[in-house]
Parts: sequence; C-alpha cells; structure tokens
Amino acid sequence: MTTIQGFEDLVLPALKLRAGDDPLPVSAVFEDEDPCTGGVFAEIPQASALDIDAVVAAANQAFRDPTWRGLAPLQRERLLHRFADAIEADLPRLAALEALDVGKPISLAEAVDVPAAVAWMRAYAGWPSKLHGRTASLSATPGEHHVYSRREPVGVVAAITPWNFPLVLAVWKVAPALAAGCAVIIKPAPETSLTALRLAEIAREAGLPPGVLSVVTGGGEVGAALASHPGVAKVAFTGSTRTGQAVLSASVPSLKRVTLELGGKSPSIICADADLDRAAAQAAMGCFFNSGQVCYAGTRLYVHRSIYEDVLDRVAAIAAAQKLGPSSERSSELGPLISRRQHERVAGFVDRALAAGVRRHPGADIVVPDVGYFFAPTLLRDVPPEAEIAREEVFGPVLSASPFDDLDEAMDLANDSAYGLAAHVWTRDLATAHRAAARLEAGTVFVNCILAADPGFPFGGMKTSGLGRENGSEVFDAYLEHKTVVMDLS
Ligand code: NAD
Repeated sequence: MTTIQGFEDLVLPALKLRAGDDPLPVSAVFEDEDPCTGGVFAEIPQASALDIDAVVAAANQAFRDPTWRGLAPLQRERLLHRFADAIEADLPRLAALEALDVGKPISLAEAVDVPAAVAWMRAYAGWPSKLHGRTASLSATPGEHHVYSRREPVGVVAAITPWNFPLVLAVWKVAPALAAGCAVIIKPAPETSLTALRLAEIAREAGLPPGVLSVVTGGGEVGAALASHPGVAKVAFTGSTRTGQAVLSASVPSLKRVTLELGGKSPSIICADADLDRAAAQAAMGCFFNSGQVCYAGTRLYVHRSIYEDVLDRVAAIAAAQKLGPSSERSSELGPLISRRQHERVAGFVDRALAAGVRRHPGADIVVPDVGYFFAPTLLRDVPPEAEIAREEVFGPVLSASPFDDLDEAMDLANDSAYGLAAHVWTRDLATAHRAAARLEAGTVFVNCILAADPGFPFGGMKTSGLGRENGSEVFDAYLEHKTVVMDLS
C-alpha cells in the first residue's frame, strides 16, 4: 500500500479501521486508490448480501425505536444541530479524507465540500418543528367531523451517491431524511467511501441512536440490493442516468418512493450585451471546476457570433492558467479525474470528436502531471449540434463551443438535449434574462452566475436529468407520507 502524502496525521487514524489494523468482521475487501498517483492506500470492506440484510433490519428497528421515533421535534432539532456542530468540528479530517479519496485539491475540500455539508445539516436541523399536517372541513360528506392530516416519515432510506462530491451529496439526502424522522443507509460510490464512513462515526459521537445512520460499502451490486430490498422504503439516488433507470426498475416490485438526481449536458449562453470578463470566467469555471466532474456543469457553450472569437480566446486563457496538481498541495486548482477508467472515457470522447473533424480552440494548452489521472481543460470550437460531444455527458473538463445569431436560435440549441438539469445565461438585459429563464428546459437557470445550489431552493432535473427534487421544502415530499385522519363527532 502506498503512503498518504501530506495527510498522514489526519487520515491515518480514520483509515485504520478499514485498512485491516482493527479486526473488523470482514470477509472481502476492495481497494481504494489515490487518483493523484494511481496508488492503492486502503482496503474497504465489501458488503455481502447478509451484511445488507442485517443493516436494513437494524435500520428498520432504529426507525421504530422510541429513542428516535419518540423524540419531540425540538429534541430532534437539538440532536441534528449537535450533528452539524460535530461535522464542522471535524472539518480538517473530513476535508483531508475527501481530498485524498476524490483527488480534489485540499483547499477546495476545505472551502466547499465540508462547509456545504455543515450548511445543509444546519439548514435541515431546524425543520422538524415546522413539519406538520393541516385541518379542513369535509365538504362532500354529511355529518359532523374533525379531519386532520399528519406527516409521517416514510421509513428506511437508501442514499446512493456518486464520487464527485461524496460528502455533500450524502448530506443532501441524510439531512432532510433525518429531519423527517427517517433512518438512513448510505451507499457511497466504491471509489469514495471514506467520508460516508466518517460521517456515520460522527453521527454516533454526536448522539444519534445506533442504526439511525449507517453505511454499507461496495459497488453497483450493493446499490442494486438496496434498491430492490423490501425493507427499504425510499431510494434517494444521485448518479448517471443509466444507473438511475436501473434503480427505478428495481424499485417497482415494492413501489418504493424514488428520487433521481442524474446526469446533465447543461448549456451556457453568452449574449452580445454580457459583461464579458464575468461571463467568460464563469463559463470557463462552470465547466472546468472540480475537473468537470459536476452534474450541472455548463458543458455546451453558445456565444453570440459578434463576440465568439473574443470569448473563446478568454476561455482558452483561463484554461491555460489552471494549475493542475495533487490534492495535498494548497496551490493546486484542479485535481485529476477519479480513475483510469474515467480518464479513458473522457479521452475517448475528445479523440472521437477530433477524428470527426471538431477542432480545439488554440491557446488552451497546459502542462499535465505525468502521474495520476489528470486531464487538461479542453476547449472545442464550432461543435455541430448533432456531434456526440455536444449530446453525451462527458463528466470531464471538456467544453464544446458554437456561435448563435439570435436568442431564438440560442434557446433552440440549448433545449435540443435529452438532459435538463441546469442552464446558464449571461446578459445585462432584464427582459432577455427573464425570457430565457422561462424558455430554458432546465431544473435550475443561473443568470450571470454559476454553481449556486442552496438548501433553500429545490434542485433537480427535467427530462432524463432526474425525477423529483432535492433541497428546499420540496424535498420533504420524498421523505414524508401524508396520512388523513377522519373522526365522526356525532
Ligand atoms: P453511477 O451511476 O455509475 O454510480 C452512482 C452510484 O450508484 C454509485 O454508488 C454506484 O455504486 C451505484 N450503482 C451502480 N450501479 C447500481 C445499480 N444497478 N443499482 C443501484 N446503485 C448502483 O455514477 P458515477 O459514475 O458514480 O457518478 C457520475 C454520474 O453522477 C454522472 O452521470 C453525474 O452527472 C451524476 N451526478 C448527478 C448529480 C445530480 O445532482 N443530478 C450530482 C452528481 C453526480
């Protein structure tokens, strides 16, 4: 096993449990790799079918136990605030684990990933006392009645997550599910199990009853077992569209509640009147941030023909200025892709685009470290709408640009996609902004900004980008049942 450069003090104590120093009852393990080096640094337990049955049974028991189910709303709030505090107190270790596992720069994990996890847990910690039903009069039934509705937790939730923002995306599910009174089992992506495991430890330290938050580790077969398990009431899934479709199919026999946060191919539209400094910088980082491994990255760039060359030159200069480097170096701006497989996948998309006649815009060249799975930010120009690179999600730092002549054309190009997760518009004209916001087929429209998800507003996809919404108060539709109580008072 290779050494963990730069993170020894923080991550070794947390890794000990999974690396075999502690006698965990584990029959099989899989390897965890550092994407910055390709070296294996830990072994993670592989959950068996028996493990999954045991975890689901324990979660169901915890869900019904009075130590959790019987908590008054303010008691649950207090516990969740304590959990948020404990996550915040563990920021250095969580950030180091995330940086090591995903390969993302430590400065990014410290500034974005862990603070977002804390913010979401805090935002939802305040919800339990605000979740309630309503009363109404019966209008179609004669007699004297008292009628009210209750909102009740749906049961055990399987939270299945991808590898790009493992901690954040787990907390997007865990925080509202716990606020609703559910019990949660996290199934992290096999490439990035560490922060989910640490999160469950922190939950226990903060006082959450055993079984209320647990983790099972492994690959797609573990996710599939949870998605079809009769003891799981709801699946909250984030990942690719293809896997989301499999999750939905697997959930049919037991009619689980399912939310799907899936892939995207989001458009970025720069109008002729835009603030070009801002628009070019944001359009570039809206694609290259986190090395392009962002579901709502703006990967299709449409620029008004009058400013097309200028904007592309600016984006290329920004690409060329990025510092690719290892996660432990504070000066690194972009890390590697998650795995050799993902590197080959992204390179394949670019190679096929170039072979089909698409050209790189000059000036975006950059030195790429020769170890690890680093991929240079790439700017492709004059990409036709039917090209594979303009239609398929690449999930790497690859931006496909083409010009447009008027807003109608930009809207048509933007909406010509199977996906509908996000869309971006840069303009100084209010009417253009509102018209575009109304016409774009996307779950979130960003005007003159990028990457601003928030616990206060719903997030999710139209078309094949998803089903249901996370965040906002809307997320509770996924975690709470409605129960109507009708009492005859005569
Ligand atoms: P993936 O679909 O391969 O895997 C996601 C998770 O599902 C992993 O935990 C995986 O082990 C599990 N899984 C695999 N097969 C399964 C099955 N048959 N049943 C149940 N679970 C199964 O996705 P990935 O490669 O880890 O992540 C990249 C994808 O995630 C991209 O498509 C990206 O757009 C998407 N994503 C979406 C959002 C969003 O909010 N919409 C956010 C981040 C990532």
